[in-house]
Amino acid sequence: MAVSTSGDAEMNSVKKGASAGAPLVLRILAECPVTKARACDLTLPHGPVRTPVFMPVGTQGTMKGITADQLEALGCQICLGNTYHLGMRPVSSAVALFLLHYAFPCTENYSYGPALIEKASGLHGFMNWKRNLLTDSGGFQMVSLVELSEVTEEGVKFRSPYDDKEILLSPEQSIAIQNSLGSDIMMQLDDVVSSTVTGPRVEEAMKRSVRWLDRCIAANKNPERQNLFAIIQGGLNAELRHVCLEEMTKRDVPGFAIGGLSGGEEKDDFWRMVTLCTDHLPCEKPRYLMGVGYAVDLVVCVALGCDMFDCVFPTRTARFGSALVPWGSLQLRHKQYAKDFQPIDPDCTCPTCRRHSRAYIHALLKCDTAALHHITIHNIAYQLSLMLSVRQSILDGRFPQFVQAFMKRMFPSREQYPHWAVDALASVGIALD
Ligand SMILES: [Zn+2]
Repeated sequence: MAVSTSGDAEMNSVKKGASAGAPLVLRILAECPVTKARACDLTLPHGPVRTPVFMPVGTQGTMKGITADQLEALGCQICLGNTYHLGMRPVSSAVALFLLHYAFPCTENYSYGPALIEKASGLHGFMNWKRNLLTDSGGFQMVSLVELSEVTEEGVKFRSPYDDKEILLSPEQSIAIQNSLGSDIMMQLDDVVSSTVTGPRVEEAMKRSVRWLDRCIAANKNPERQNLFAIIQGGLNAELRHVCLEEMTKRDVPGFAIGGLSGGEEKDDFWRMVTLCTDHLPCEKPRYLMGVGYAVDLVVCVALGCDMFDCVFPTRTARFGSALVPWGSLQLRHKQYAKDFQPIDPDCTCPTCRRHSRAYIHALLKCDTAALHHITIHNIAYQLSLMLSVRQSILDGRFPQFVQAFMKRMFPSREQYPHWAVDALASVGIALD
């Protein structure tokens, strides 16, 4: 199923330079004349996506999370494949789920898992989600979930927590599973090292990620309906990032992710690596910054030229009773909200703020997990509406002013602005007064 481009000349002109025949069209609507920010319409097989975009993680109808229907009602156009709870451990990766749930108990007959999901009309049918889906490779999740893992040239090796058998997640298998899931954007399997690791391992992982990208491209059975994104690695080493960018941008992939960041590195290193990457990524393809979801980070990284973001933060922090607001966050468990009858954010139009007060949610938090669900809805609505405001300001040609007002509202005084954010914004021409 190819995306309809309505055959108009405009679409064809913006497609120039994009991956040949890929089911993705990126149309740049506006570029900020000061910063590297841009507003685009991204067309994927399951509909349009307005960028810059925050992509929430879809979950299976749990009271603590948010359902596909609710995500759709909030205007979400793309989400990450399901978070399931497998036993006591949350698995926020559909691929990792498949390995754990289907592959491990039947390693003799590995093809069983993907065949089953194909019967369920892919992940879209399984989740009952009609819009776009992004799946990760499963590698990162598996490495963090399964203690006994080993990376070799072949792939990532794990020991089954069920029967102690060894199983291999190779680039080919990751893509085979993602092909079966039918996601609109698939991520390559990469060799992930923590952003705080230094030394020869970082170079090895970067070079292996390039080799694995080639194996992923070759393994993709559905290049006409599933987009495979490359992941730029290289840790905090500018030279290695340069090499990775040069190699990966030679490949004909429909989009690029910036990986290996948001892992506890200094924020000063973080933004410098982000801006280095966006300087060298092709402007006609989408740029996805992985694992970033704090409001300040989102706004700054849009200024640095990123289009897509994902992070478990807004949903995770909701589960601790914390609601996101334009001036920071409210810890609704605190006593001060017991008699506070305002909504979480009086300016928010989400279902939670339309119906419930801070006092009600505070009371509910003591006895019912439904409170966490109400906060999750609000937090996702906050992220989506923040990104829509960012986008509108780029379209209106007032993004720098938007950033200045955003920072003023988020922090009580100039002294509290994070230094890294001030430096990062200054690097693209926004002075904060
Ligand atoms: Zn709200």
